[in-house]
Amino acid sequence: MDNPCPQFPRKWQESDAAAVEAAVAAAKKGVSKVSSKIILPNSSPRKATKLPESVRVGKIVRKTRELLASEKTELLGSYENVLSFNKVTGHSVNVPIAETCKPTAVCMKTCYFAVGAPSWSNSLRHQRKVMATMKADPAAFAERVALEYDSLSLSFIRWNGGGDLFAENVAAINHLGKIRPDIPIWVVTRLPEWASQIEQAPNVFIHFSLDKYSLIAVAISFA
Ligand code: SF4
Repeated sequence: MDNPCPQFPRKWQESDAAAVEAAVAAAKKGVSKVSSKIILPNSSPRKATKLPESVRVGKIVRKTRELLASEKTELLGSYENVLSFNKVTGHSVNVPIAETCKPTAVCMKTCYFAVGAPSWSNSLRHQRKVMATMKADPAAFAERVALEYDSLSLSFIRWNGGGDLFAENVAAINHLGKIRPDIPIWVVTRLPEWASQIEQAPNVFIHFSLDKYSLIAVAISFA
């Protein structure tokens, strides 16, 4: 299966669905609750790997780290938008690839989010602010998303137009799914350990992207 996350949902073969089910079930066994709201996966230590800068994800990770290293992490201002928009994802919640993704070999070649407007400096700054705001208060973040959904008269929200899940990200999705059952939330992820923490709700849809490299955990480093 090769279904990079920027693509829209399509029907899976039964064998692919079985592979995802097995991955999520395995990930679910290795988690523990650390608070009533946030659950951390007991994943084994990540193996460091070298990420070539010749590939698009390598370039954006380096750019993000260099750009943001000297800048103070800020929260979204009260008048700033939470959601981003582009033609591929529609309105979406985006967080930085460099701090959230475990890119696979397929990601490295095909990630649409590592090129063009989402890779521009101000987009990277916005993604960092979104992540910081989510971490500071996942429930308040979810409520801001709901207000923006209403003011833009949207019909769905894509969660992780770029980037991937982490503890507070999952907590925000779970909160929004509960308080606004009328909002269809389309969550895209490659991380079974976090996908398994999203609470079942009729309005929350998980688009799990899996390829043959997905279950190999890596940390990003450069030569
Ligand atoms: S998981 Fe992250 S690196 Fe991979 S395609 Fe999606 S946004 Fe890009």
